[in-house]
Amino acid sequence: MIRRFLAARQSTCGLIVLACLILAVSSCAVIPGNRYPLDKTYRNDQTLRQEIQEITGKDQPSVKLHRFGFSGTEDLPIFALETGRGERHILLIGQHHGDEVLGVEIVMEWLRVLWKNSRSDPRIRELLDTFTFWIIPTINPEGYRIVSQGLYPYKRKNNRDTDGNKTLDYASDGVDLNRNYPVFWDADPGVPPTNPYFKGSSPASEPEVQAVVSFASRTYFELAIFFHSSVTGAFSEKLYLPWYNPRNNEQAALFGETLKIAGTYASKVKKDYAEGYYEVHTSASSHVGNARNFFFHTHKSRAFLIEVGGVNQLGVSVIHPPAKQMKQIVHKHLTALKALFLDLIHKEYE
Ligand SMILES: [Zn+2]
Repeated sequence: MIRRFLAARQSTCGLIVLACLILAVSSCAVIPGNRYPLDKTYRNDQTLRQEIQEITGKDQPSVKLHRFGFSGTEDLPIFALETGRGERHILLIGQHHGDEVLGVEIVMEWLRVLWKNSRSDPRIRELLDTFTFWIIPTINPEGYRIVSQGLYPYKRKNNRDTDGNKTLDYASDGVDLNRNYPVFWDADPGVPPTNPYFKGSSPASEPEVQAVVSFASRTYFELAIFFHSSVTGAFSEKLYLPWYNPRNNEQAALFGETLKIAGTYASKVKKDYAEGYYEVHTSASSHVGNARNFFFHTHKSRAFLIEVGGVNQLGVSVIHPPAKQMKQIVHKHLTALKALFLDLIHKEYE
């Protein structure tokens, strides 16, 4: 009797241990974290360049390649890819900050969607007849090189030797390219060069930003979207709009349209690690030297920033998810982009 009881207890214990193991394994599976060096499925600086050559090769007339600038320290080319035949121009910039690689994946996959389905999908044809898409995978090829080659996961800025010691210090060197645009640049006192948010020595001091400024002067974009990821997680899964003066009627009208468009996008993207959908952040956010304010105030474009990625159940911000998770995130944004642009044709935003 006792022996039978002990045997039953042992098998119960065994079951409990097994259940714990299953729980541990399955909870590992449902709590994704960062994986660095990046999974091989991600693009890197080399494969991105090859892909760009392939998509814009001689036998591929539907995508035009523009090399519109070079990085300041390593002289790396900055590319824009143009596709579509419409009169309405859309700008998508995948990356300003080297460590925020999800945006590069999203904009390149969007280009592939347009490229592959231009004949077979009537809705894609409609988009290409209406719009011309300008896709810039990264304006920070130096930061992207460091991160995508597996050298350092959090290389945010470009590679300017800001401390002048003739060595590239991954954690501290460089200028934050999304604080360097010639817009409200003087509105704050700034931070020291070692700070991740260092805005540079003067407005548009960085060749990467100069390249975008000159590129932007040649084409009017009715909408400009900038992809980012929140390394701290504090800004994750939200869309950020430009600053505006509510007493300025023109700015208020443009802001109102931007808000509606951003709301449409947000409502189509489910959060990655929490309930609900992306949100549009409407209270004050940084406006010093950033791209969305530059395009909004200098060129009267509707412009917003999307913080992709999210915070997992352990409170960790996941900006370098494993391949499977990354693909799911990209897919959601492709669906949202397609729906948004179709809405821009069929709905009234003004
Ligand atoms: Zn960013």
